Amino acid sequence: PSPIHVIGGGLAGSEAAWQIARAGVPVILHEMRGVPGIKTDAHQTDGLAELVCSNSFRSDDWEYNAVGLLHAEMRALDSIILSCGDAHQVPAGGALAVDREGFSEAVTARLMAHALITVVREEIAGIPPEDWDSVIVATGPLTSAALADAILTTTGEESLSFFDAIAPIIHADSINFDIAWRQSRYDKEGPGGDAAAYVNCPMDKAQYDAFIDALLAGPKTEFKEWENVPYFDGCLPIEVMAERGRETLRHGPMKPVGLTNPRDPMVKAHAIVQLRQDNALGTLFNMVGFQTKLKYGAQTDIFRMIPGLESAQFARLGGLHRNTFLNSPKLLDRQLRLKALPRLRFAGQVTGVEGYVESAALGLLTGRLAAAERLGRDLTPPPPETAIGALVEHITGGHMEGSKFQPMNINYGLLPPLEAPRVDDDGKKIPPKDRGRAKKRLMSLRAIESLKAWRDAVE
Ligand code: FAD
Repeated sequence: PSPIHVIGGGLAGSEAAWQIARAGVPVILHEMRGVPGIKTDAHQTDGLAELVCSNSFRSDDWEYNAVGLLHAEMRALDSIILSCGDAHQVPAGGALAVDREGFSEAVTARLMAHALITVVREEIAGIPPEDWDSVIVATGPLTSAALADAILTTTGEESLSFFDAIAPIIHADSINFDIAWRQSRYDKEGPGGDAAAYVNCPMDKAQYDAFIDALLAGPKTEFKEWENVPYFDGCLPIEVMAERGRETLRHGPMKPVGLTNPRDPMVKAHAIVQLRQDNALGTLFNMVGFQTKLKYGAQTDIFRMIPGLESAQFARLGGLHRNTFLNSPKLLDRQLRLKALPRLRFAGQVTGVEGYVESAALGLLTGRLAAAERLGRDLTPPPPETAIGALVEHITGGHMEGSKFQPMNINYGLLPPLEAPRVDDDGKKIPPKDRGRAKKRLMSLRAIESLKAWRDAVE
């Protein structure tokens, strides 16, 4: 077969190249680092699969942690990133942390040694030539400007973001509905045509004042010089809004108008925090207008001051980063092909997943999809009960229409929900406080079963 081209030798591109080659298809991997004078603002070496920051792949617990589950699924699919990670592990408790140099050297050596893989050091500075009939773009959050511009021209305005202004996302089952209630402002239809797609958390004056004080005092993350993130009106961090005046939030994202508390219809709240349904499953809600640069620990403490969110579990905390990513739900099909130019597939962080492992997982799948297509075989992504399938669902299907697409780590809220079990495998009653954990285990077991069935059907 003729070769598949992979652009970008990071976490996703390295994994994609490996999967294509193991399917027996030749691959040319184009990586711009290594060309004199060309670099990104975060990478330090010329190695493939360089980890730009932490050396951790996060929890390795497949039973109770969604990223651990993703590890397990990737191991089952012969992931090069996981196998080199395992080989270069350093002690980190329950996490999979790696010796970053040993890890990157191992990935580079294995890819270079493979007879079907050619690594070319060059920047692809525009839409690839037409005779490249199958291409995977895995150029990451710091995609070079020339390529990003070309993608923007092909896909149109508003299709590519250069920053993520992330508002926290909360697991629906951790919201206290004795205090919060569902209603959209003026009972207008919310995303997906559902008037109950919003959740409201009311505050009185004392609670609002304490909240503003905490926002102003809370520790913030500084921007790195090169990040130079511009603040756009409309997505200002909440603490910046609070700095502009104590009443600003009450007239902005926390305005208490058009909403009636069913428990207290005659009392007007002083301020209201709104959450909006974030995924089609209804398991996740984002805090509307709450993008923030507060440090993670401070976010948890401060946002739990909001009535109804005392016990909130966060699927993702807020942030503001430089990050190039596609509006994938609009632009990509289920094969992760660009609808406007289907010879291009996308993989990794540029598709709107977040994290080393998630990026590699998408590289793994995209490599397999491209190889299958080249070999004339039908292949669809694993079902959404699996962690890999859930990521595909997040970027191509499960996102709520009308709400802005933002990158996301894997978490159980992206998988179809299950009833929390009340008895364990031996028929013993599970105390209510342990049922959430038991549910995670059931979801993990379901995912592994489902992934193995998918693998065995295609291999
Ligand atoms: P990358 O690993 O960045 O790979 C993309 C590759 O494409 C690079 O090697 C780049 O040189 C190359 N490239 C770009 N443009 C071109 C072009 N036109 N032609 C040829 N080659 C090109 N995630 C975590 O899990 N933990 C962290 O601690 C973490 N820290 C991060 C810190 C920073 C500063 C950033 C920006 C991101 C961080 N991430 C982190 C998020 C993300 O997981 C990583 O960026 C991850 O490396 C993404 O994998 P990727 O394969 O999509 O992109």
